[in-house]
Amino acid sequence: MALAGVWLLALWLTDPGQDGARQPADGGQPAADQAAAVMKPEPEPEPEPAKRTIVDFRMLDLDSGWFRYEDGVVMVTGDGGVTWREAGPDWTMPTEEDAPDGLPAEGGAGADGSDGTGREAGTSGEEVEDRTVEAAPDGQAAFRTALREIEAAYLDFDPSLPIVIDGRRIAAKRVQPLSGRIGWALADEGEGLDRPLLVSVDGGHTWHQEITAEVRAAIEAERERRRLRAEEAALYDVPQDVMKPGPGWILLPNETYPGDVILVRRGEPGEVEWQGKTYTLRPYKAGYFTYLPIPRSTKPGVYTIGDAELTVKAKTFDTQYLTVTEEMEAMRRNTERIAEDQKKIDEARSHSAATFLFDSPFLKPIEGRLSTPYGYTRYINGKLSSTHNAIDLAAPQGTPIAATNDGVVALADDLYLTGLTIYIDHGMGLFSQYAHLSELHVSTGDTVKKGDIIGLVGSTGFSTGPHLHFTFWAHNTPVNPDLFFGTTPFRW
Ligand SMILES: [Zn+2]
Repeated sequence: MALAGVWLLALWLTDPGQDGARQPADGGQPAADQAAAVMKPEPEPEPEPAKRTIVDFRMLDLDSGWFRYEDGVVMVTGDGGVTWREAGPDWTMPTEEDAPDGLPAEGGAGADGSDGTGREAGTSGEEVEDRTVEAAPDGQAAFRTALREIEAAYLDFDPSLPIVIDGRRIAAKRVQPLSGRIGWALADEGEGLDRPLLVSVDGGHTWHQEITAEVRAAIEAERERRRLRAEEAALYDVPQDVMKPGPGWILLPNETYPGDVILVRRGEPGEVEWQGKTYTLRPYKAGYFTYLPIPRSTKPGVYTIGDAELTVKAKTFDTQYLTVTEEMEAMRRNTERIAEDQKKIDEARSHSAATFLFDSPFLKPIEGRLSTPYGYTRYINGKLSSTHNAIDLAAPQGTPIAATNDGVVALADDLYLTGLTIYIDHGMGLFSQYAHLSELHVSTGDTVKKGDIIGLVGSTGFSTGPHLHFTFWAHNTPVNPDLFFGTTPFRW
């Protein structure tokens, strides 16, 4: 009897068509017909199955779950309900310890002290970890707790919505919101449904009796969204504080200084009007992002970015007095040559990868003595010259220079003022710049990994001695390189 039950259920829960076309519930072929998959013979009429009441079920994740007949026979699935088979003799009812990856299924099976069986019609939020979560970095337990909180935040499922099948409202024994928009329900046996185990892939608005190709596609899409959320979560110190779904704005950090840069994150697309420019948020993992440079000229105060507040604090920049030869000073007056170079630089910085190209902290390109900090106001031969929007690291001629992080060489060229110069695109409008080199070891267009030797320290261009002039540019505004060393914008 049990075997017949297995087979009949497999018939009505299985989508036999590779192309998504389904056969009627009373169709299908005996499993013994080995040619069935290839030949697709006409369905033979099946004897009317004796109806067996399903008394309970539980999905453990997007793939695995079980249901139980009133006679105690348990059926299990490992493919999201596409096929079911009778549980083997060694099968035991999963408890919270048995949840995938050894995770306590918070709010899930057994969380109420029961063994997960025979619960009444439930509408409690039940969130169970998916097997697809990537290997976590250090601090696995904390990371998994964070992921669980994030998944709960993204659970867009309303178990109180009415279940309607064929225009008829259906009473349910149990509703189980599972993940995102995916949920399962068991119709009351009094409703007389041939297929009482129902699935919704739109947050409980519509319900399906069959795992159709569309349903499977929606479940796969949810699996992909969960993967992206897990990957994004690994980027942050406290991911659950950052990864809010929806329109809320997150500023990393929300206190900053003139000359710095912040990272803006939102759960939806958006734009920021900031200091006379428009910045468009770009999709990455589960969110939308933009760098927001804080120009040196920004007045201290509290600014509104979306629904968030950004505090810009006051900062004093020191002054540096530099004496150079008359010949060097004259270099700065060659405006034609300088403008020519600027065209090249503008062109190189006008294309940036539409994604973050790095996945680990930035490193200092050389260990050198800091000879000029970031942001100094510079006087050359007694005349106000410019703001030094970079750091100068003094080091012996020929010191190898490492790429600060992964990226693509946007420009490697001999420029008039900055000498042999490299710009590396790190994606999303962020570039690192290396100037006054004695040798270039990369070419425009090269892909570089963090730590690759891209050139050697020198004193080419407008320079008084061997050093590396190093900075970052965010959307064509120079920004404080000290913010990046040993960390990433996701951890600001
Ligand atoms: Zn410099």
